[in-house]
Amino acid sequence: MPKPRITLLQLIVGLSVFSAAVAFGNALYAAYTVQKEQLVATTLEGNRAYAVKLAEVVDLYIGAIQRQLTVGARRIATMMDAPAAMQDEVLRLAQQSDGIISAAVLDPTGEVMAFASLLPGAESRVGTQARIDLGSAAQERNVTPPYLSDQGLWTVALTEPIRSAQGTYLGLVGAAIYLRQDTELDKLLQEHFYRDGSYVYVVGADGTILYHYDPKRIGTPERENRVVQALMRGESGAMPVTNTMGVDMLAGYAPMSQGGWGVVVQRPVSDTLAPLSGLMDRIFQYSIPAALVMLLMVTAMGYWIARPLATLARAMTSGDSGKARPLIQSVPANYFEAQQLRTAVDVTLAQHERQIGTLNAKTMTDPMTGLLNRRGVDDALSRLQATRQPFSALALDLDRFKQVNDTFGHAAGDQVLMALADIMRAGVRDVDACCRVGGEEFLVLMPGATPDAALRVAERIRYATERHRMPGQVGHVTVSIGVARWPDHGEETGQVLERADQALYQAKTSGRNKAVLWGA
Ligand code: GH3
Ligand code: MG
Ligand code: MG
Repeated sequence: MPKPRITLLQLIVGLSVFSAAVAFGNALYAAYTVQKEQLVATTLEGNRAYAVKLAEVVDLYIGAIQRQLTVGARRIATMMDAPAAMQDEVLRLAQQSDGIISAAVLDPTGEVMAFASLLPGAESRVGTQARIDLGSAAQERNVTPPYLSDQGLWTVALTEPIRSAQGTYLGLVGAAIYLRQDTELDKLLQEHFYRDGSYVYVVGADGTILYHYDPKRIGTPERENRVVQALMRGESGAMPVTNTMGVDMLAGYAPMSQGGWGVVVQRPVSDTLAPLSGLMDRIFQYSIPAALVMLLMVTAMGYWIARPLATLARAMTSGDSGKARPLIQSVPANYFEAQQLRTAVDVTLAQHERQIGTLNAKTMTDPMTGLLNRRGVDDALSRLQATRQPFSALALDLDRFKQVNDTFGHAAGDQVLMALADIMRAGVRDVDACCRVGGEEFLVLMPGATPDAALRVAERIRYATERHRMPGQVGHVTVSIGVARWPDHGEETGQVLERADQALYQAKTSGRNKAVLWGA
């Protein structure tokens, strides 16, 4: 398995940063969507309301001109045989309203009977105006489709039939208004033009553009446009729409009562949403301090969570149980699991130590007598050497043990060895170490014991052995003991053990069943 390179702290911080980023992004997206919907809805409603208002105003304007024509038509009906009066009336009509550029009276065949224009030098052209094809609508009150005037300007004409008192059709009176040329109408509609990227256009009953800020668009059909189609059905409202140029627009629209016209107010979606990007930038900026604080808190929290586990991991990998135990004790139990884990690790390590201890004890113990073996002696000696604590050594050897074996058998001999081990254990202090260093040779190490004290213990063991009744037929055996002390009887511990052996030899040669202090 590959070794993971990432730490718990990194994981916690990474996870927190990730979830915070997701939450933040989501909030930003939600804010954007809500704001966008709000802007679009507000713009649509604003454009609709404005279209309705404009339609009313233009209605009033056209209606006012139409009413003047109605009054004029009634007066002209009495002037059919008085050309001069008729000419005066036509001039009066042309001058009466700001928007009218020219006025004319046509007979039922379309022949011009009177004409007046406010354009400089145009009055002289009375009667020279070409015949106008009036079409079938001539006898009705009418608004013509837009046409290019002699001056090359887009124009519509409002007409009113002239009837006699008996109702006979006598011709019509008409007034021309420029659609774009600083006229009243232009001023009304221009006011809104491009103030915030939005603009106004007006379509006629047949879906042709009557008014547009772009003069090139006037007179072009716009029947494919969904907004224009709704207007032609006489509806008002608002909708998103893609215009002829392929630009997405938010359009409000309202029909007019005059002549089947309709007004459209629209604004490009991109202009509408332009403030949003700035808004998102600001939201982002304002969130940065909070995000930093959160990151800091999460890191601190992550450290707090990760520290116990990191310390435990370090303790477990230190490879030195002596150092690991205190490290584990120092692990902060910040929360339940950390505390549980700490206890578990501590218990496991203690168990581990005990197992090693047991293993050590096994390898250092003589199985038959339960005393320390040669290895146990070495261990005890190195410990004594390390602390440089003075100690006494007792070297023991059973007297004429070969005979015991020969007489009663090896098994009986073993029983004697075990009995002697018990006697030794009973005769020494807890801190003393009883060892079996050879077949029937033993050693006792007595930390801190004076030569006198050691000799007393030796004597006690010797006496107890002599008095003890051995198992089976063996009866009584005796033991000889040599005693020496470090550092009194040698600089090296090994030397002191030799001296103890020499004292033992002395005990043997001087009659056995004796305890002898070296050099005594
Ligand atoms: P002494 O020490 O008094 O000079 O006489 P000894 O007969 O005891 O002589 P020595 O110490 O040389 O003899 C050792 C004998 O101990 C030899 C062997 O038969 C016996 N022995 C050694 N190890 C064991 C053992 O583990 N079990 C038994 N039963 N006998 C052992
Ligand atoms: Mg021996
Ligand atoms: Mg012996």
